[in-house]
Amino acid sequence: MIYRRAMSFSEIFRNYNWDDIKSRIYSKTSQDVENAISKPQRNLEDFMALISPAAAPYLEQMAQLSHKLTQKRFGKTIQMYIPMYLSNECQNICTYCGFSLDNKIPRRTLTEKEILSEITHIKAMGYDHILLVTGEANKTVGLEYFKKAFRLINPSFSHISLEVQPLDQHEYEELIPLGLNTVLVYQETYHQEDYKKHHPKGKKSNFDYRLETPDRLGRAGIHKIGLGVLFGLEDWRTDSFFTALHLQYLERKYWKTKYSISFPRLRPHAGGLTPKVEMTDRELVQLICAYRIFNEEVELSLSTRESNKFRDNVIKLGITSISAGSKTNPGGYANAPESLEQFEIDDQRSPAQIAEMLTRQGYEPVWKDWDRAYGGG
Ligand code: SF4
Repeated sequence: MIYRRAMSFSEIFRNYNWDDIKSRIYSKTSQDVENAISKPQRNLEDFMALISPAAAPYLEQMAQLSHKLTQKRFGKTIQMYIPMYLSNECQNICTYCGFSLDNKIPRRTLTEKEILSEITHIKAMGYDHILLVTGEANKTVGLEYFKKAFRLINPSFSHISLEVQPLDQHEYEELIPLGLNTVLVYQETYHQEDYKKHHPKGKKSNFDYRLETPDRLGRAGIHKIGLGVLFGLEDWRTDSFFTALHLQYLERKYWKTKYSISFPRLRPHAGGLTPKVEMTDRELVQLICAYRIFNEEVELSLSTRESNKFRDNVIKLGITSISAGSKTNPGGYANAPESLEQFEIDDQRSPAQIAEMLTRQGYEPVWKDWDRAYGGG
């Protein structure tokens, strides 16, 4: 499908029906799965087969293929990154998040001095790729705050990623020269009705504005865009189809930009939400392999939300970047109390321990994004 220049993803999205896609995924057969595995290149129909229940008995085969394709494209390297939470202020209510406005937790936004202190602690762990995270509080943590933060952070890191509220195109354009490389913007769920239930208040309740964020980023000329959904809110297979559709659309339209996919599963937090749909470890492995077999170029990222054992086992299957030693509260590396966390992390190992685990498995942990440092890609 060729996308007309003016067509945004929300226009494409309107042509699809959730229930129809879901029933197409669930009606895929073992023959469809075998065809998808044996083809040299796969389309979205094949992706549906690979994430379908019919693919469950083919997990071993999928894992081997995924491993092979990942090694061919990425070698035996894993990129290391760490989040820095700048603020937990938030004007939104999101049913699944510890920072939600209706959670009565102490709020704080890092001052310039506190940011510098976090930088010192993070650099001491060896990191060169940082992910800046905030809630959505536009008055205190808006463009001007980000600009100040970037000026402080940019000299110390060769790759800066951002996971904050969706911004306008011109705001991204102002941050790129200050060092912004990557923006992560997860749709949470592509199920529009459920999206409304989980985002009842605040700017995030605008489904379309969020859906069109990667388009604004693509037009701004960003280096990399990260996509994903929050597993536990809706049927993971259908949500993953829409993520793959989004990815394919973006790759064709903004072909100079790179892309990554993340796999957050709902974790416990203050005022916690019970997942509507459980995603098992086996299913998450199936999905990671399915993405790799569908798309050999996309980066696949796994955070410390997952357990030690799970992370150790999936490293070989297609993952290309991981975090380690993460704190999910503002000021967490210097000394702030743990009680302000966005969610609990599971893998508590230090970056050095993770690096050791990677080396044991024959992988090289990569702390510096050389590609970016020398202006490549
Ligand atoms: S998910 Fe983001 S926008 Fe929603 S409450 Fe949490 S920090 Fe705020």
